[in-house]
Amino acid sequence: MIPSKTEQKFHHLWHLIGNTPMIELVYRYSGKERRIFVKCEHYNLTGSIKDRMALYILQQSYRDKNINPSDTIVEATSGNTGISFSAIGRALGHGVKIIMPNWLSKERMDIIRSLGAQVILISKEEGGFLGSIALSQKMAAEGGGIFLPRQFENKYNAEAHEKTTAKELWVQLQSIDLIPDAFVAGVGTGGTIMGVGAYLKQKDAKIKVHPLEPEESPTLSVGHKVGSHRIQGISDEFIPDIVKLERLDEIVQASDGDSILMAQKLARQLGLAVGISSGANVIGAMKVQEKMGGDAVVATVFSDSNKKYLSTDLMKEEPVKPGYLSPQIELVEYNPIHRL
Ligand code: PMP
Repeated sequence: MIPSKTEQKFHHLWHLIGNTPMIELVYRYSGKERRIFVKCEHYNLTGSIKDRMALYILQQSYRDKNINPSDTIVEATSGNTGISFSAIGRALGHGVKIIMPNWLSKERMDIIRSLGAQVILISKEEGGFLGSIALSQKMAAEGGGIFLPRQFENKYNAEAHEKTTAKELWVQLQSIDLIPDAFVAGVGTGGTIMGVGAYLKQKDAKIKVHPLEPEESPTLSVGHKVGSHRIQGISDEFIPDIVKLERLDEIVQASDGDSILMAQKLARQLGLAVGISSGANVIGAMKVQEKMGGDAVVATVFSDSNKKYLSTDLMKEEPVKPGYLSPQIELVEYNPIHRL
């Protein structure tokens, strides 16, 4: 049993994390009006989908007695996870150290620092993302008092999404008498796609669950890191342990330029200020819908807001290339669906 004061803190934090709104996003493509459904994960405590898994991993680790109140949380992360563990870790009284590649956006590093966590930057020469993970493991091996959430292999990562994100998505669609035909999500750790996928396939094995990767860096399709891309938060440098492609349907791709254009369009035309991976997810959902038929109920997530990308290409003029979907899409409106 968790000490009741700690249990209470988790209980309180769950009021600030999860139970996010969903919207029906109405758009026009090839002269026809269509809609997709999007969970607004930028409504979580620190503004991203990663809050769910950070809070759930910490809660379960307390229950499993794998973490002590005096432990420092050390995690290698491309950003949002670091922000989540910093905020939630501090709320629970833990020290936090975040190890990340030095080429990620400055906003991410500053937000983590502002939350009282120490940031350790790793260059490409020092091993980049894999080097960050190796360092976190070395630190844990060297001394006690360190808790490693290990988001890329922790079963509680996917389970967080199975128990919360997926269930909410299901109930919200049900409230408007719909059942999803497909779900699409960009893969970072794979927690979102595997957790939501497990829930949906258990409800109905016919529901399609599509992982999404950047066209410029198709790690999932190739099996290892190739190329580079600008969709921060997905397709890090390897296929994480959590990802079991055999339990999923076809991989869909979105190019980073197209994703930037879609994120810009969502903000400029509808006032939905979301990040680049959210643009990618919307493109993926629209591509899947095009394949399944215009009436298919396809759902995805806005992983975070645009605020961490103000110093990136998201704020620049993005050239349109042949084959992009965004320029052919007219965003019409969005309608909120009630929270639980
Ligand atoms: N988008 C963004 C902005 C992210 O930070 C992440 C998490 N790395 C993802 C998408 C992918 O989520 P997951 O780790 O659950 O695959």
